[in-house]
Amino acid sequence: MTIDRRKFLAATAAGAAVAGSGSALAQQGPMRRIAVEEAWSFPEIMAMNRDIAVAGGDNLDLVQLRPPPGANPSASNPLVENLFDTDRRLEEMDRLGIDMHVLSLTSPGVQLLGRADAVRMASVANDRLARIVADRPARFGGLASFSPQDPAAAAREMERAIDQLGLHGFIVNSHTDNLYLDDPRFGPILEAAEALDRPIYIHPRCPSDGLAGPFRDNRLRAAIWGYAIETGTHAMRMILSDVFVRYPKLRIVLGHMGENVPYYLSRADHWYEYRPQSYEAKLKPSEVFLRNFAVTTSGFVHAPTLAYAVEVLGAENVLWAIDYPYEEMEPTVRFMDEVQLPGAVKRAIYGGNAAHLFKLPG
Ligand code: MN
Repeated sequence: MTIDRRKFLAATAAGAAVAGSGSALAQQGPMRRIAVEEAWSFPEIMAMNRDIAVAGGDNLDLVQLRPPPGANPSASNPLVENLFDTDRRLEEMDRLGIDMHVLSLTSPGVQLLGRADAVRMASVANDRLARIVADRPARFGGLASFSPQDPAAAAREMERAIDQLGLHGFIVNSHTDNLYLDDPRFGPILEAAEALDRPIYIHPRCPSDGLAGPFRDNRLRAAIWGYAIETGTHAMRMILSDVFVRYPKLRIVLGHMGENVPYYLSRADHWYEYRPQSYEAKLKPSEVFLRNFAVTTSGFVHAPTLAYAVEVLGAENVLWAIDYPYEEMEPTVRFMDEVQLPGAVKRAIYGGNAAHLFKLPG
């Protein structure tokens, strides 16, 4: 669909904010810009993951992380520098008027590690992230890591991360050892998120071993297609196995405009209703998606896709994200400033929804 600008302008008293100039926005009070899928890392976890990748294995994340043959291990990597460097990040945020990055440990986080290392490194990551957030609470939020390899320890760490460290939600990078969150062993993790009333952001990683075959060539495994198939499949597994009947208040966030799921919802609903005897799920896919999920704009600067998400999911279920440093900040700010949406809708997507969902300060 296309957005009729005049119709939207007329539809809301906040329409003046649509123009996107600083002064027009200022008349409406401050518009908070809060980006919620912003990657961060630290040297020890990067080294551990690289060592695991170099040791071998054909899991697609290992392939992805393995340095190409002949690569110089001491060559500087600007992407890695940007994951580590919060000062440079802040300078760019200031330049563009970005209020806050909600940081999370970059994919695949602790999920390649053995059980004991994963438990330990999730705590180390959360301690370090909490320090960054505590130093600049108005500029950085944080999503806590946890170790799906040990669900009981994960649940304890999730509690610590919110209650003691003051972090704002959780991040998991899709499957762990080829298992998805619908597996009953992960019950303590879902229970903890629901009890703490904080969302789990299901961030992509490469397709699991069972999905991997057709993603092994042409770099299909990553952002161009594989991430969305892996992560969208994760969401659909949870929806169709009634995870949200067991955890009705659990909130899940998907990046990348919902990893293709929103575009497919009407067909999923159609088959659910057309062949009810074929599905065990008690709730219609769209019913669950609208109640339990939110999506972010990470990686998308495309007005028709945003308009579709707002129309189908409701503006309250769409959050702004950049995906820095994998994506640049500036085009995403320019896109949001210029995209034609009613002022109240833009305000919600740009920061209001994030502040509410993650209980951010300010
Ligand atoms: Mn990302």
